[in-house]
Amino acid sequence: MPRSIRKVMVAQNSSQILGLVLTVLGLAPIIAVLLSAWTSGISFLDLSALYGFLWTDRFYIGFGIGFELIYLVILGSIIIISGLALLARRTRQIQEVTVVTDDLTVTLECTVCKNRWKEHFSEAQLQAMGFPQNRRISRRRCEACRKFTRPKIIGV
Ligand SMILES: [Zn+2]
Repeated sequence: MPRSIRKVMVAQNSSQILGLVLTVLGLAPIIAVLLSAWTSGISFLDLSALYGFLWTDRFYIGFGIGFELIYLVILGSIIIISGLALLARRTRQIQEVTVVTDDLTVTLECTVCKNRWKEHFSEAQLQAMGFPQNRRISRRRCEACRKFTRPKIIGV
């Protein structure tokens, strides 16, 4: 029996999602800091003023505990870097998985001249074409009448 060998790319989606979440999470405190600098009237072009603001302005997490904003920026950067690292790692984790399936012998019929012939299809191919609901396969040339047709599956 003929067999189909397909290469399937399997991506590690979980680490990709985690990487994206971390990147967005890391951006949030940096955007918050920049917004607070902006509302304080500090120009982003004035780097020394921005730098001074980051080191002197504090944010409070409650219970009177506060940190200079610079630590928030550093924390955000570390989270973004680990998020991006995860995203980069994911592309290397894509693996090829070889899938071997038994092929089915399918009897096809030309819709023009009713010529019949056999072809091999994997079950996955048939499923992808919508068989058994859809019995017409993709366009090909009939060997008998030389016309292009979408042959009908009349037997498996
Ligand atoms: Zn034909």
